[in-house]
Amino acid sequence: MPMTHKLASIDDVSNKTFDFVVIGGGVAGCVLASRLSENPSVSVALLEAGNAHFDDPLITVPDGWMQQMFNPEYDWVFRTTPQKHAKNGLTTPDGLQHESFFWTRGKGLGGSSCTNFLFWIKPQREEIEAIEKLGNPGWNWERYFEATKRSEVFTPAAMNNFPQYLELYKETSVGTSGPVPVSFARTVSGIEPVLQKALESLGVPINDDGTGGNLSGTFKSMSTIDGRTGMRSTAASGYLIPALSRPNLAVLTGAYVRRLVTKSESEVVATGVEFEHEGKIYTVNVSREVLLCAGTIKSPHILELSGIGDKNVLERLGVTVRLDLPSVGANLQDHVIFTGSVVAMKEDQGFVTSDTIRLPEVQAKLHQLYGQDGGAIALASSGVTFVPAQVVSSPERVNALAESIEHKLSSQANAIPSGLKAQYEHQLKMLKNPTIPDLELVIFPVNMHPVGPPKPLAGMFPVLGHPFSRGTIHAGSNDPHDQPLIDPNYLAEDIDFELLVDSFNFLRKAMATSEWQMHSQGELLPGPAVTGDALHEHIRNCVSTTWHACGTCSMLPKEQGGVVDPRLKVYGTRNIRVADLSTLPLLTAAHTQAITYAIAEQAADIIKVDHGL
Ligand SMILES: Cc1cc2nc3c(=O)[nH]c(=O)nc-3n(C[C@H](O)[C@H](O)[C@H](O)COP(=O)(O)OP(=O)(O)OC[C@H]3O[C@@H](n4cnc5c(N)ncnc54)[C@H](O)[C@@H]3O)c2cc1C
Repeated sequence: MPMTHKLASIDDVSNKTFDFVVIGGGVAGCVLASRLSENPSVSVALLEAGNAHFDDPLITVPDGWMQQMFNPEYDWVFRTTPQKHAKNGLTTPDGLQHESFFWTRGKGLGGSSCTNFLFWIKPQREEIEAIEKLGNPGWNWERYFEATKRSEVFTPAAMNNFPQYLELYKETSVGTSGPVPVSFARTVSGIEPVLQKALESLGVPINDDGTGGNLSGTFKSMSTIDGRTGMRSTAASGYLIPALSRPNLAVLTGAYVRRLVTKSESEVVATGVEFEHEGKIYTVNVSREVLLCAGTIKSPHILELSGIGDKNVLERLGVTVRLDLPSVGANLQDHVIFTGSVVAMKEDQGFVTSDTIRLPEVQAKLHQLYGQDGGAIALASSGVTFVPAQVVSSPERVNALAESIEHKLSSQANAIPSGLKAQYEHQLKMLKNPTIPDLELVIFPVNMHPVGPPKPLAGMFPVLGHPFSRGTIHAGSNDPHDQPLIDPNYLAEDIDFELLVDSFNFLRKAMATSEWQMHSQGELLPGPAVTGDALHEHIRNCVSTTWHACGTCSMLPKEQGGVVDPRLKVYGTRNIRVADLSTLPLLTAAHTQAITYAIAEQAADIIKVDHGL
């Protein structure tokens, strides 16, 4: 391990006092630990349950995630409660259908930025503005855009294997000096430009500025890849490792946080954090603040285990109630993706997929292109398309679907909490606006369904951008070792299912164009004969998470279902903040890592102001 990778020992942390204790060394935790410790007079401890994984090729090589998934060294391997309206198909360890969904989350320094699929996508302007309009002054596009650019540095890649797949972006929409190098992937499948052409023939434009606040259209997405090396960038490599030599920063790995230690004054005050390390329980003291960055699943869980949450939940578990805050763990939203599609591409056109990349002739070709010192040969997904619902469904059908929600809002007015009503009103506005994307169409060059010898196989996956269904995450016992009960309540609202079906049917339209058929051997799964009710059943049985869940510690007014205020402070507490993806009150159609970096950057600004740092 290089000298600069200095980690703390248990003696550096146990019973010691720090100004700030950050819980969880994932995206948000690395940003906060790094930004706050920039000031040498501020002491910061970061507690991460997983290991450091420095220089681990399963992380640094872009497609190493395929070997991390379901491996407990890298993945928390969370499971949801059995779902009533959907089954997890294909993205499961055995490839079979399960009622309980598998929820991968990155464990170790860098968190899920080490295990994610590297897409670097920024939201639509109106999605960010909705956050402000829901009662969070200052959380607007301008501030978001400045923060997101501060986290990244655009590093163009020297070459790629499909130059006709255009790398379009505007210089004003990317950062030039942030810690996280982003770029366009060097090795792509080559199927993406084919889909772009097919979609263009159906009226979907190519977007030349996908990171500038308008997501609509098809584009080659950027990735968290350093264009100079071809390797994955993570929150650990970008933010944390360069800060490890600071004497005022102590980073302890293998430190599993059990609960916050609090005292009650006029508000709840955190005095420390209780954690487990190598089988023993310790406490670290805090003089200023505890910053929860354990992600959408564990941040609400840790609050509940600390007695902060819905008293009905806590009393049932035998947890002493320190603060009755009913919205902890509520408002869970997640992107649902239909993954039950496999398409075969023609074999003589040089397509590179998860199946074909290991073939010696493909490896040799890529090595010849990049040179021997060009870094690892690894495939990255980058084919994204974001479309308004009016593209996949007729405008009349979209209006009818919107009316079904409006009817629910008026007929069940007393049963729908006012906070959810406000969110639905924003969602309906976005749904009815034919310029704001509601759905994503992904071309995924990874074969989820092995069927015979290596061939260029890919998936055509539609994703719901703004689901109406809401779920919960709550502790199921008072034992910190037990996983919380995760109930995303997938596809509970009919509109979610209907839009998913329409989106797949639209992808089939794209597959029927001559632009596509010139390059494809056709649909293998579910197969063109599967339509109507059979298709509906197939779709319900083959969905997955995209691992973008948010909302369980929502930033909203308290009476609207808020857990944290616009300064990310937990209501009713003096010095506990949450600064990770769990605070996002309304899911954006965009993938969520870029927004998490930006939330944490803004959190650091707020904390610095509040403490005069
Ligand atoms: C498989 C997968 C694929 C994804 N693909 C993409 C993608 O392509 N593009 C994209 O934009 N987003 C993607 N995401 C989502 C993105 O990675 C997340 O939105 C982002 O990482 C959220 O950041 P976070 O800080 O909230 O949580 P995380 O990054 O998950 O960090 C939470 C950290 O807290 C630690 N922790 C949890 N509990 C404890 C505890 N009790 N004690 C101590 N430490 C604890 C965890 O180990 C982890 O390090 C993907 C996620 C996954 C899992």
